[in-house]
Amino acid sequence: MATVLLTGGAGFIGSHTALEFLNAGVDVVVVDDFSNSSPKALDRVQKLTGKSLTSYNQNACDAEGMRRVFANCRFDAVVHFAGFKAVGESVAKPLEYYRNNIDSALTVCELMREYDVRKIVFSSSATVYGSAKTMPILESFETGRCTNPYGWTKFMIEQILLDAAKADPNLSVTLLRYFNPVGAHESGEIGEDPLGLPNNLAPFITQVAVGKRAKLNVFGNTYPTPDGTGVRDYIHVVDLAQGHVAAYQHATPGAHIYNLGTGKGTSVLEFVAAFERATGVHIPYEIVEPRPGDVAVCYADPKRAEQELGWTAKLGLDEMCRDAYNWQRKNPNGYRD
Ligand code: UDP
Repeated sequence: MATVLLTGGAGFIGSHTALEFLNAGVDVVVVDDFSNSSPKALDRVQKLTGKSLTSYNQNACDAEGMRRVFANCRFDAVVHFAGFKAVGESVAKPLEYYRNNIDSALTVCELMREYDVRKIVFSSSATVYGSAKTMPILESFETGRCTNPYGWTKFMIEQILLDAAKADPNLSVTLLRYFNPVGAHESGEIGEDPLGLPNNLAPFITQVAVGKRAKLNVFGNTYPTPDGTGVRDYIHVVDLAQGHVAAYQHATPGAHIYNLGTGKGTSVLEFVAAFERATGVHIPYEIVEPRPGDVAVCYADPKRAEQELGWTAKLGLDEMCRDAYNWQRKNPNGYRD
């Protein structure tokens, strides 16, 4: 049986991806230091799938610890999720972000070479496009001009992997550029569990919905968009997770880049309205100043993933809102209950 290593596999996207790999009949080994995730997510993945996985409490930058993981098991592929991911924090702590995110990626790549593991799928982000001039965004658009250190770490790791693929004709590199992952598994057993004040729209709204926050702050309403609020391409995390399985199944030597999005743009106020419709819960909001670094509009052209991976996003805003709310209601304090 094939086995994949998921670094950061207990996190929001990692845990949903672990579940989809297990459901696809692929064995899963998770490495996670649980600095921003919980082992409970992995317990629940095993319960939901009826299958077991192996996990290591291990930081992906620690080469000796990671070597023990590679020595214990022969991997067919690595899906590299591990990394710091808070945009605002990355501005305050750039060195920590560059050290952690670049170091873990290099450590994984070096061990893959040492142990002859030839496929890597990397958790990248639409943030590498900076502020694209036209929409929708194609994979061929220029990258760079990121607006924060977090985005630059994604950009730099992409470059490292592309260069590694050029130097080693046996290596398969797949860069998955996520748009805005939201929602949760429909069971409500696994979901997004941010530490402290959520930075992202969906977890903030779900916390308002369960009464943990009084209201949503809408960051600006004078963008050049139909209602003036920012437009994004929200994608259900289960669709996103399935994109990783498709990327793994189609991996061939060389470098491959895919947008994982729906191709549909939704404004902040449209998202709020969809949430209220799907859940019946009113979300009070206030318009506040725009957030520095935010772009007005960002949505994907997801056709390449459809043509080459046979993957498309199937779930809509209703499911994203329903499932995000279901998770938050069942787990008001995330995994900390
Ligand atoms: N947003 C907002 N209030 C919040 C969080 C986000 O109005 O509390 C807006 C943000 O300005 C952007 C959209 O919601 O237009 C998505 O933001 P998020 O941080 O979720 O993702 P981003 O696309 O910035 O990575």
